[in-house]
Amino acid sequence: MARFVYDFTEGGRDMAGLLGGKGANLAEMTRLGLPVPPGFTITTEACRAFLDTGGEPAGLWEQMSQRLTGMEAAAGRLLGQPDDPLLLSVRSGARFSMPGMMETILDIGLNDESVLGLAKVSGSTRFAWDSYRRLIQMFGSTVMGVDPAHFERAIALLKDLRDVPDDMHLDADDLAQLVETYKNLIHLETGEYFPLSPAEQLRRAVLAVFESWNGERARLYRRREHIPDDLGTAVNVQRMVFGNLGPDSGSGVAFTRDPATGRPGLYGDYLADAQGEDVVAGIRNTVPLTELGRLDPRSYARLREHMRTLERHYRDLCDIEFTIERGTLWILQTRVGKRTAEAAFTIAAELADEGLITPDESLARVSGEGLARLMFPRFDSSATSEPLAHGLPASPGAAVGAVVFHSAEAVRRAAAGEKVVLVRQETAPDDLPGMIAAQAVLTSRGGRTSHAAVVARGMGRVCVCGAEELAVDVEARHFTAPDGTVVEEGTVVSVDGSTGAVYEGSVPLADSEVMRFLESGTDDETAGDTHDALVGDTRDALADDTCGKSAGDGHAEAIGPVGAVARALTRADAVRRLKVRANADTPEDAARARRFGAQGIGLCRTEHMFLGERRELVEEMILARTDTERERTLAALLPLQRQDFVGILEAMDGLPVTIRLLDPPLHEFLPDRTELAVRIAAAEARGDLPAAHDVELLAAVSRMHEENPMLGLRGVRLGLMIPGLVAMQVRAIGEAVAERTLAGGTPRAEIMVPLVGDVRELRIVRAEVERVLGEVSAAAGVPVTCPVGTMVELPRAALTAGRIAQEAEFFSFGTNDLTQTTWGFSRDDVEAEFFSAYLDKGVFPASPFETLDRDGVGRLVEMAVAEGRATRPDLKIGVCGEHGGDPDSVHFFHTAGLDYVSCSPFRVPVARLEAGRAALAGTDVSDSR
Ligand code: ADP
Ligand code: MG
Ligand code: MG
Repeated sequence: MARFVYDFTEGGRDMAGLLGGKGANLAEMTRLGLPVPPGFTITTEACRAFLDTGGEPAGLWEQMSQRLTGMEAAAGRLLGQPDDPLLLSVRSGARFSMPGMMETILDIGLNDESVLGLAKVSGSTRFAWDSYRRLIQMFGSTVMGVDPAHFERAIALLKDLRDVPDDMHLDADDLAQLVETYKNLIHLETGEYFPLSPAEQLRRAVLAVFESWNGERARLYRRREHIPDDLGTAVNVQRMVFGNLGPDSGSGVAFTRDPATGRPGLYGDYLADAQGEDVVAGIRNTVPLTELGRLDPRSYARLREHMRTLERHYRDLCDIEFTIERGTLWILQTRVGKRTAEAAFTIAAELADEGLITPDESLARVSGEGLARLMFPRFDSSATSEPLAHGLPASPGAAVGAVVFHSAEAVRRAAAGEKVVLVRQETAPDDLPGMIAAQAVLTSRGGRTSHAAVVARGMGRVCVCGAEELAVDVEARHFTAPDGTVVEEGTVVSVDGSTGAVYEGSVPLADSEVMRFLESGTDDETAGDTHDALVGDTRDALADDTCGKSAGDGHAEAIGPVGAVARALTRADAVRRLKVRANADTPEDAARARRFGAQGIGLCRTEHMFLGERRELVEEMILARTDTERERTLAALLPLQRQDFVGILEAMDGLPVTIRLLDPPLHEFLPDRTELAVRIAAAEARGDLPAAHDVELLAAVSRMHEENPMLGLRGVRLGLMIPGLVAMQVRAIGEAVAERTLAGGTPRAEIMVPLVGDVRELRIVRAEVERVLGEVSAAAGVPVTCPVGTMVELPRAALTAGRIAQEAEFFSFGTNDLTQTTWGFSRDDVEAEFFSAYLDKGVFPASPFETLDRDGVGRLVEMAVAEGRATRPDLKIGVCGEHGGDPDSVHFFHTAGLDYVSCSPFRVPVARLEAGRAALAGTDVSDSR
């Protein structure tokens, strides 16, 4: 029989797949000797079996009972024992943490009898009844399916009746009365009675937690986080400890470093006389963790000790839940904490400095996506007015949007294309869809560990929480600022998640610090200096007595995000095998790309050079009736193109510049067919003779009209069909190389032929290239040679790569077209038509235009690499489609053995970082979830 149950003393952190993250970590902490209330974990396997069959797996209950008996023996009392009840929590916990997405039920084992026993042994009747009403509330909604709003209403009603501000002010009798109300409510709503048998409570709670795996918000969360649907959750059954036993008890959440900025120091929130879920729910306002140092210095010192132990052990930022029961500290959970991109970089650098992790591990823990986020603009501090209010900066970034007060409204407006900011007093798990839809989340209550803050950070959403100065009225759909300004739904506000400020109106944006640093160039001296200055000293973070909002003090020497990014990029550059180039068509873009660290240009398109004022020349070339006419226009284009190339080769001096010969269909350079027809018809209607040029153009446009231009006369086919076109472009390139060489430069132009499907196409063009370059060399008196290669962007090119390599000195995968031609998609048509449906239905895990389709397009790439290199071992191979800047695809290209990736200049730092991460063996350790 399968084993479904493990005691906390039997598991460990490497068993997260079976025991879930929470269970594995509870076991790990138990082994470390931390004060964890005893308990056991029911495996994810049991959950999967239950979900598959709809029934309790055979043997589960027996195994649970056996463990329970052990726990009871150790505690010296029985589950729900009338005079001194053992109480349990039943907690969900999947492989990957899904905070607040599934259910947890506390105080299992209470009933009409044991509540009296609990009152007696605890010496607090109020506490006993409060625990009982919590159980019925959680059990009623989670297990028995009663709408939680009913319970909320009942308690609100009672508070009104007693005229008290919060549940702390309800006394034992009130709570006992509430228990009656709740029980009646359950009976009314379900026709069933709340089960008084502790064993039945336990059994049903466990099954309900299994079922919560398929709850709506858990599913939504998984889809967003790309967590597979078939993992199932484990269930942890644990002895209750009580934070709600009076002022010398309480619960809190703590982080070993600031999860928003990564700064060292203790961060967290504490709430006296409360159970754990009160802390995150934002029902009452928490105090910063330092306050605990005053309230209960002994527990505080112990907590810090345990935090140090955990951080050393996990070698990462830990996020910890704890409860103090009458002066005794208990640790209820830990996990490697979610963090912002800024914190991820900073923490990775700090931990490496502290010697806890190696530089490679440090690199593995940051990501290109995170770097891209840090490159986003921030609010322009010189342009900001007085803020409306300040809250806690819980998740950084700059967001502008219209204020909305309900999750559904946020979803509705966002679907219509509006940017919105979700404003609530506090958020609950049900607000998840609205939080996903919003640019930012703003709450008036709750600390930096509240639901809003944790979830927003995990998603990379901007969040300001606990803005207590704001009076939020969700019913009336407005909030009031301290100066009396009333902000109605739909008003645009700006939310600064890095400072906590909230502004009315739309504040202009400016480059981020990281962007300014990257723009300043990374291959010059100053970058090194900045780096050293920012990196600062090594220091024992947890030895510092700082905490919460005050932690910024005395940390001037901390590694800032810029220093941390510099560090990660330096390491990535040192370890990566893939080179990174940029796609750039102008000297300005080339120069920027170079500052971002590009090692050349992988794709310089020549089509924009045919636009603007030059379009007339191109028109003439297309309309030319004789060779002489055509040659005249080509000769006029030649010096213009040459100047373009001179500029780019100068900006990229010493580095390779891959210039692609003209690619798009020629009619793209002609006026629109309908427009021409209308113009001619209008002239005729006026009785005028239409302009002869228009008539001629229309005839040409009609002649060239193609049903599928993407698959028509373009790419290398143009070169074969338009006499003199290739020669003109090659001459411009060759003369630019000669000019730069004579000027003392080191130009390294490479000529790339697009859309080749057969080696013979390339052979013809190549002969032409060599002829022209020979002429240019002779005329200029300097040798001009350029490697000639081809784009691989047709399946046929990939399939015959071995033969094509006979004529090609390099390949560059044009993965945009290769994706289109492999799938038979026209991108412009499919993206609008059915891509979102395909994503929803799970046909694609991600758009194949964003992340390379490894199974299909990727196979063609692998095949072409293998066969190309078989023919020509020194064949240089790169990629110039947009995938060159996509993290997942970069990892694929590394493994496929490419020499370089090329992407847009802004993605160059991202590609450098990911190429470095790809080169590390076993990057799997970097799982930052
Ligand atoms: P989540 O995954 O949503 O954080 P948890 O299983 O951690 O759910 O439980 C929710 C809350 O209940 C937490 O604040 C936790 O501290 C508290 N809790 C869970 N088990 C116990 C227990 N045995 N004793 C006291 N509080 C508990
Ligand atoms: Mg928890
Ligand atoms: Mg192409």
